[in-house]
Order: sequence, then C-alpha cells, then structure tokens
Amino acid sequence: MKGFVVEMKMRTPNEEQLKFLVPKGGWRGMISTNIPGVNKKNEGIPSELLQKTMLHLHTKYSDNTKLCTYGTKSAEGAAGAVWCEEHRLTSGAGLHALSSSYQAEVEGLTLALKHVSAHDTNKQIVIITDSKAALDALANLGQDELPPLNLLRLTELLRN
Ligand SMILES: [Zn+2]
Repeated sequence: MKGFVVEMKMRTPNEEQLKFLVPKGGWRGMISTNIPGVNKKNEGIPSELLQKTMLHLHTKYSDNTKLCTYGTKSAEGAAGAVWCEEHRLTSGAGLHALSSSYQAEVEGLTLALKHVSAHDTNKQIVIITDSKAALDALANLGQDELPPLNLLRLTELLRN
C-alpha cells in the first residue's frame, strides 16, 4: 500500500495546516485581475489582448521582479511550473495524471511562492498567472475561513 500512496503523490495535510484559518483581511488586497482594455469576456483580437496585457504588466510593474506561473494538463499528466525573470530559471513539478488543470495552475502558483524566498526582500515581486479561477478562489476566502484542501499549501506559503 505504501508504494501506491507514493505513486499518487498524495499530500496529507498535517494538524497545524488543518487548524489554519484565513488571516484578517484575507488576500484580496494582494490580487489584481483587472487589465485596462481587456474585459472579462475576452472580446477582441487575441493578439491585441495579449499586447495590451503585456504593456500593462510592463508599465505597472516595471520595477518589480516578475514570476510567471503555468499549469498544464494533457493526456500524459498535469504539471505546474514557474518562470523567474530575474534568475532566468524555470521550475516545475509533475502532478498525478488525474489532477485537473486547476490543480496544475495552483501548483504553479505554489512553486512561485516557494521561489519568492530566493529573492531579496527589498525588491517587490509580482506573480503573473492566467488562472483566474485560482485567483478568484483566493480572493473569495474570507477572514477566519478554513481554506479548501487544494489550496492549503498555497495559503500556508501566503501566510509566511
Ligand atoms: Zn528568481
């Protein structure tokens, strides 16, 4: 049975994690999902939307170190990854084949938050993700709520 558990890469939360509640104010204030000229319905020409998005990120966060996260899901399995602009490195982690693309995106964000500690604290870091679902899930967590299991590791890193 032990081999099976390892193969599944199950992450069993510990007692401390299960007691953890969302701190005062939650994380809504850290999250921005608004890009000028790009609306939620994705109306417009994709290349122009991408251009507007990139321009916004470069002007608004020109002084910040940028981390980009990715989550992919294919027949071969699911994986999350992060790319760091400053270190020019990509770090990824494979997930169990049954993982959803949402879990893969959450994994990418988790890797990004882990990587933050490799940076100097005097330069602000912005984490860029295309997973609106993960951002909404985080933003909607209210104070003293118990984060859902699939966000436990991510919220634990946010707390530190
Ligand atoms: Zn880095």
